[in-house]
Amino acid sequence: MPRYLLTAALPYANGPIHIGHLAGCYLPADVFHRYLKAKGEDAILICGTDEHGVAITLQARKEGVTPQELVDKNFKVIHQAFEGLGIVFTHFSRTSREIHHREAQAFFLNLYNKGFLRENTTSQFYDPVAGTFLADRYLVGTCPHCGFDGAYGDQCEKCGTSLSPDELHSPRSVLSGSVPEKRETNNWFLPMDEMLNLPEFARYTERIARWKSNVKGQFNSWVQQGLQPRSMTRDLDWGVKVPLEGAEGKVLYVWFDAPIGYLSATKEYMELQGNPEGWRAYWESEDARLIHFIGKDNIVFHTLIFPMMLAAHGQMVLPWQVPANEFMNLEGRKLSTSRGWAVWLHEYLQDVPGREDELRYTLLCNLPETKDADFSWQDYQLRVNSELVAILGNFVNRVMVLTHKLSNGQCGELPPEDPSTAHGSLSLELASARKEIRLAMEQFRLREAMAGVIHLARLGNRYLADTEPWKLLKTDSEAASRVLRVAAELCAELCIALEPFLPFTSARLGGQLQWQISDQDREGWWNTGLGGAIGSSESRAFYLSNGHRLGEAALLFTPIEDEFIQAQVNKLSPMNDPKPENAPQLENDSKPKNDSQTEAAMKPEVSYDQFAALDLRIATILSAQSVPGADKVLEIKVSLGFEQRTVVSGIAQHFQPEALVGKQVLMLTNLAPRKIRGIVSQGMLLMAENPQGQLVLVGPTDNGILSGDRVS
Ligand SMILES: [Zn+2]
Repeated sequence: MPRYLLTAALPYANGPIHIGHLAGCYLPADVFHRYLKAKGEDAILICGTDEHGVAITLQARKEGVTPQELVDKNFKVIHQAFEGLGIVFTHFSRTSREIHHREAQAFFLNLYNKGFLRENTTSQFYDPVAGTFLADRYLVGTCPHCGFDGAYGDQCEKCGTSLSPDELHSPRSVLSGSVPEKRETNNWFLPMDEMLNLPEFARYTERIARWKSNVKGQFNSWVQQGLQPRSMTRDLDWGVKVPLEGAEGKVLYVWFDAPIGYLSATKEYMELQGNPEGWRAYWESEDARLIHFIGKDNIVFHTLIFPMMLAAHGQMVLPWQVPANEFMNLEGRKLSTSRGWAVWLHEYLQDVPGREDELRYTLLCNLPETKDADFSWQDYQLRVNSELVAILGNFVNRVMVLTHKLSNGQCGELPPEDPSTAHGSLSLELASARKEIRLAMEQFRLREAMAGVIHLARLGNRYLADTEPWKLLKTDSEAASRVLRVAAELCAELCIALEPFLPFTSARLGGQLQWQISDQDREGWWNTGLGGAIGSSESRAFYLSNGHRLGEAALLFTPIEDEFIQAQVNKLSPMNDPKPENAPQLENDSKPKNDSQTEAAMKPEVSYDQFAALDLRIATILSAQSVPGADKVLEIKVSLGFEQRTVVSGIAQHFQPEALVGKQVLMLTNLAPRKIRGIVSQGMLLMAENPQGQLVLVGPTDNGILSGDRVS
């Protein structure tokens, strides 16, 4: 019997979880895990927070806390949000734990001793002011592909291209803003070009032929591009220390240590279970099936680099499937956490307690399984109101209310099998619908499976429309009783079928039916009850018994009001929200919402004296950082040449703080100082709004103007 080891990409502990993360891997992993458990399979789902890497240290700097404080806070927020949405892991760990550091170091040494990690000296960017090498995101510059000035040393977030530090134009340090120099340093490289030929790895690649085409495509294109040795260590102090002599001040590359987190978390779980060797059954056994649930940005690490590491390590299973998803967009635009274009899970759970399954359902219906997909609040409302309320909720409610009306909620007898009746055709249709749901699940087509379950309720509604039990109640109560018993059986069946997808609804429905699913019913439905009709000998004959009394009828779902949808949409766009909470008078507050070029946007005339009273100068931005607890403002230090000033500016949704460093900007210097978010702001930075609603700097570009020069 196979043993399933499911993993969900370790969420990065630099911020909370949004719907893009959920649709990418966490919801599919949870649904698939619940499905396997329902089938009676041996399956565990392993996850935890990824707490290393430069993006953590940068975010900690921005928030003015230590990296450890940052990851402690985010671990809690992330873990609680998952639990709130019913995403249940067998074990949820963290890569900052001691067991992980120990395991990652042992893994590194294993590969090192086998000759798979080779020391090499290269020249890397070094910040002489900060006295440190500039790994990955410590380096920013201009993207050679799209010209975006603010691309990182490893990736341009504007166009999505992955970069190497040497490709950036005019690179500078995020830490000090200074121009970096090149210095030599030694690191340890994985010879990926040679590792392609490891027999274990070569055997594994045969499996990829039957994987999803987006996954196969990325894997093949990486291999065809030609693989290069890749550094697995970094000159940093936050992370897992490189366990070698002469490697002081170096840590493992975050993408080397993070996937080992799946292994260390499994070991930690088994230790807690009092079965310290138990992990071997999932990581070393022939029967083990390792399935990675991830988003498309992680495909290369999970199909190429980590499998190579496992193959080199020896004795380990390599991935059996990697059902990676594409990206989820929001209201037709790419999700952007820095611009506030995201729906955060912890906020959703706070805003609408008790509507967990409504979000699960909308995401499951739109999973980006084969291509990028879109989440919109209008679609959310439509799916809840016209599918969950009108199809599923309505069916269950009619059965409950009518059964109470007829017989105080007591179930009657099942009718005999007869293919010529409405019951007979319902049975036939259910049989093929069940088959499709199961087939879709086996092939990781969760979206179709979800639609299939709602189709069961649709068939139920059609059966009620064909048999009209509300009329039979008055004319033939025995016939009405048989019809309602069939429908009640379908409610019980829905309870089973909904469980992996909408667990809260399944539990509420079970409560209404006063019926609990047994393991036998679950396994029977998901494994073998495929061809049978309700009440036939082929499947479970029935779930309820003659005379079983149903509980009180209650609505499973209530409609979503327009006001709620409007409030959620407004929340997304800072441009539609001119006065955010405790908003100080900020530059962009006074801007018109839409077209700033229209005449309507012109302000009243001023006198020359009023104009001359303004002290406008050129300032150079020395540093910019976010203000804890305020997501719209940045604290910016500027130089006027003769003095330095601090300004609080409401531009956090428009600029990466590090991209502002070194830029010249127009500044109104004699605006009366005022306290904003506890910081005294000594002036105002002036910007323009482009047609897309983004703020842009208006200022000189290297035309010899110096800080403090007057503008008139
Ligand atoms: Zn770019």
